[in-house]
Amino acid sequence: MTYLTVPITVSSIEQIPTAVAAALSAGAGMVELRLDYLDSPSPRDVCTAVELAKKLSLPIIATCRAQWEGGEFAGAEDQRQLLLQQALKAGADYVDIELAAIKNKTVEFDNDKLIISSHDFERASGDFHNLLEHKKIHGGKVVKCAYMAQKITDCFAALDMLHEQPGSIAMAMGEAGVITRLLASKLGAFLTFASLGEGKESAPGQVTVQEMKRLYRHDAITVDTKVYGVIGYPVGHSLSPALYNGLFDATGFNGVYLPLLVEPSREIFNGFIDGVRQRKWLDFQGFSVTIPHKGNALEYVKSNGGHVDALSEKIGAVNTLVIDSNDQLSGYNTDYLGAMQAILEALGAQQNELKAMTVAVVGAGGVARSLVAGLTDVGAEVTIYNRTVERARKLADEFGCRWHGRSELQSLDAQLVINCTSIGMYPKVEDTPICGQILKKDMVVFDTVYNPLETRLLREAKEKGAKTIDGLRMFVNQAVRQYEMLTGREVSKKIIDGVMAKYRQVRGN
Ligand code: NAP
Repeated sequence: MTYLTVPITVSSIEQIPTAVAAALSAGAGMVELRLDYLDSPSPRDVCTAVELAKKLSLPIIATCRAQWEGGEFAGAEDQRQLLLQQALKAGADYVDIELAAIKNKTVEFDNDKLIISSHDFERASGDFHNLLEHKKIHGGKVVKCAYMAQKITDCFAALDMLHEQPGSIAMAMGEAGVITRLLASKLGAFLTFASLGEGKESAPGQVTVQEMKRLYRHDAITVDTKVYGVIGYPVGHSLSPALYNGLFDATGFNGVYLPLLVEPSREIFNGFIDGVRQRKWLDFQGFSVTIPHKGNALEYVKSNGGHVDALSEKIGAVNTLVIDSNDQLSGYNTDYLGAMQAILEALGAQQNELKAMTVAVVGAGGVARSLVAGLTDVGAEVTIYNRTVERARKLADEFGCRWHGRSELQSLDAQLVINCTSIGMYPKVEDTPICGQILKKDMVVFDTVYNPLETRLLREAKEKGAKTIDGLRMFVNQAVRQYEMLTGREVSKKIIDGVMAKYRQVRGN
């Protein structure tokens, strides 16, 4: 069992019972009492702090991190070690002592209760082997290695450590290192940290205990859990982790779906997929791929002997990357199907009824490519508007449509208007790609942005009396097919709608 451990970072002893009770009710399996956050703690304070925390029957780690190791404690080293010894005497289950300190320890600790740790806030690699050596020399129950990740590929060192030594603690800190925290239970780590709430993190990259439990399925993860994720930059806005993890819960599927923040570089994208494939024990089965990696995914599959379906090749983008049990790769594009279905459903029309329909596509990126491919396939008359005019021209030439720069939007006149840019997406929700005055009652306005569900563009279109289509409809439609490709299981739209409704209810929107 991997303890879901919540650091208690309060500054006064009186706050401890409330904080530990909150950790317990949020589902923590252990707490780390950060004694260094207390104001000038005395040995008596430490005793009281541990006794108060123990009343709630959660296992306790006592940590008093010195400033030289990234903590808050500024006092003398012998005083710090005495506080830790005091914590053990008062009933703490474990104390955390740094590798640099254990070499010159001034007091004796019970080896069975000792966590020997190292933290590096500068370098993107850990001191794991050194820690193991010193565990042999000085004794100790567990080693803990934390270092700062600069990019997602820096996570592999921590994941390798956990694979080599289950029962230890290894993590890459920072936003780029989040997956080391989320996969800790799959790899049998002693613990993984989670914060009590936003702003209460004791180290960069900690997610909240609520997210660990509700969103990332901490309690359901086992060594056999299959792993998936969405590759993008950014990925924070993506609904995919909520959808997939919700579906795994709803259908009893042993899987976990992660946000994979892969920096916008082909080299890092390739390095990440290579790294995953070299580590079959991670059980990655495939990915959703979003901005800006859809082209990288297509190239990766092709240059590694994989299969790209004809539609993705035509669109020039892969949003679904599958790795089968023989390490064979396949790339697909489900955006096309999802977007076309969303339009047909909203209009209550058949494909042939879109023939000769006038359509304005705003944007010329990955999603615009899927829509332009789909709409020209059925004979619609498409005009592309884009900020980078050259990109609009290139896309239009490829699919035989008209094109304009964004300034021409003023004279836009089309039956169907589609936003394929990120304008209006959270957090810039008051931006809009098309001025409200241009919108008309007899238009159908489709915004592919789904966060927020009702963008300013859709709000203004509704005010004009136009018919609207939101991005969630496209997202759900594409997810039905993508889920099947990634997991080999079918899922109905009804189940997806149920999961999304539950998610929105929890978030209150
Ligand atoms: P992309 O390939 O990066 O393309 C982005 C497009 O937006 C480009 O045309 C870009 O113009 C334009 N753009 C971005 N910022 C702009 C600004 N400030 N002013 C003017 N134009 C701007 O991204 P993508 O993969 O096509 O995704 C676009 C959007 O689609 C996403 O933001 C997402 O909300 C939505 N989406 C929805 C779904 C769904 O299922 N509903 C799925 C995927 C994506 P330039 O060419 O000039 O840079």
